[in-house]
Amino acid sequence: MKIIILLGPPGAGKGTQAQRLMSERGMVQLSTGDMLRAAIKAGTEVGLKAKAVMDAGELVSDDIVTALIAERLDVPADHPGFIFDGYPRTVPQADSLDRLLAERGFKLDRVIELEVDEEALVDRISGRFSCGSCGEGYHDRYKLPKTAGVCDVCGGTEFKRRPDDNAETVRTRLAEYRAKTAPILPGYEARGMVVRVDGMASMDSVSASIAAILAD
Ligand code: ADP
Ligand code: ZN
Repeated sequence: MKIIILLGPPGAGKGTQAQRLMSERGMVQLSTGDMLRAAIKAGTEVGLKAKAVMDAGELVSDDIVTALIAERLDVPADHPGFIFDGYPRTVPQADSLDRLLAERGFKLDRVIELEVDEEALVDRISGRFSCGSCGEGYHDRYKLPKTAGVCDVCGGTEFKRRPDDNAETVRTRLAEYRAKTAPILPGYEARGMVVRVDGMASMDSVSASIAAILAD
């Protein structure tokens, strides 16, 4: 079982890389952002609590996200493993994750930090949208569907945009990352877990770097 954390600011490409690892290796992506969006869509109590906080680009409480993660970790030892995407996002969350893994006898293999340029992130995030059926990601300036209004992958014609993917909220999300998430790095560094990858490189080149890290 491989367990990795993908770390990096919003828009760094964590979701894209996690999706690739799922399809190529059968590892399971645990994205607290996706879980929270699913809770909002389903109208659960957690979703109701999270919505306004997420729309503002701020962080949902540690207890809520840790509970969402804990629910997913009860798997047999021969499971292919997990990619944490968007969790942990604070020092208390990192501590909780250590405890959750230790309780199950699981071991974190690597923390992969995607390094990116902040201005590029605002530009990447504020134009992105995705297919409502299969989730394929697109961008107003960098990756439009080959036929306007039709998904390249599944032929779907419904697309969606995240309400927090606007330039102003992106700046808040970046500030939250700097203030609350970046401080989890020194702890992992002290344990020799962190590997850095250039997140400004092409998606294929980032995937190749991650594959090389997982191979050793
Ligand atoms: P991104 O990394 O692109 O900002 P996510 O989908 O990971 O997007 O998260 C979207 C929002 O969901 C965050 O801005 C935050 O409000 C909430 N969220 C997701 N994961 C966490 C977490 N681990 N702790 C607190 N809030 C979270
Ligand atoms: Zn599609």
